[in-house]
Amino acid sequence: MSISAFTLVSCGLLGLLFGSFANVLVYRLPRRESIVFPGSHCPSCAHPIAWYDNIPLLSWLCLRGRCRHCNVVISMRYPLLEAGLGMIWALLAWHFPLTPELGMALVLSFLLWVLSWIDLETGLLPNVLTFPGIAFGLLFSAFAGHFQDAVIGAAAGYAVFWLIARLFLLLTGRQGMGQGDFKLLAMLGAFFGWQALPLVIFLSSFVGAVVGSLYLLAAGRSVRTEIPYGPYLALAGMVWLLWRDALLAWIANMQGGLF
Ligand SMILES: [Zn+2]
Repeated sequence: MSISAFTLVSCGLLGLLFGSFANVLVYRLPRRESIVFPGSHCPSCAHPIAWYDNIPLLSWLCLRGRCRHCNVVISMRYPLLEAGLGMIWALLAWHFPLTPELGMALVLSFLLWVLSWIDLETGLLPNVLTFPGIAFGLLFSAFAGHFQDAVIGAAAGYAVFWLIARLFLLLTGRQGMGQGDFKLLAMLGAFFGWQALPLVIFLSSFVGAVVGSLYLLAAGRSVRTEIPYGPYLALAGMVWLLWRDALLAWIANMQGGLF
């Protein structure tokens, strides 16, 4: 096995394990439960889950998606979240060479993955994730030598969304984005620097608008559903993380064609 194949497989397996931890965070953080005590237990019958029933993906498959004790159906979220992070981490290991940047990408993708799921389920983006995320992003940027861009990115990210939300409230009398969205954009600014903000905002609002319209069409347009914005920000962040250079080259090319 070559070094890169080894890294890819290890990152994929680690991703499954951290996906299992992500499940704990997604379930417990919005409920303000401790993430350490008590140990894993069935949310239905409260029976503690043995280690062999807690192996990412495999246990869920062996148990055919049911609790061993009370037979209640275990949410599809558990295996999906684990397999998803495993694939994301394998993709990152394939994309990035074995450098500190890969470590940054793994941490960032983990945070974005957990935040997206919590936002989808509860409409929240907890501070206990975004604040450490901002701090880690600034720290990494300092280490990589673009601390100043990161500080401006974090501040500008928060300020831009705050301003848009104020304007939206003034014009429509409704709350658009939540505080959590300001902090999530600040976190992306801290990781990437302010240069990423225009494209991240454009991509997330564009994809969000398309998916949101389709959803409203399908669900009937009378509903004024709160559509969580966090997952789109996270997706745009991942696009920037993976294809920043290609995107910037493409934009420069288009400008070259226009002028
Ligand atoms: Zn049970």
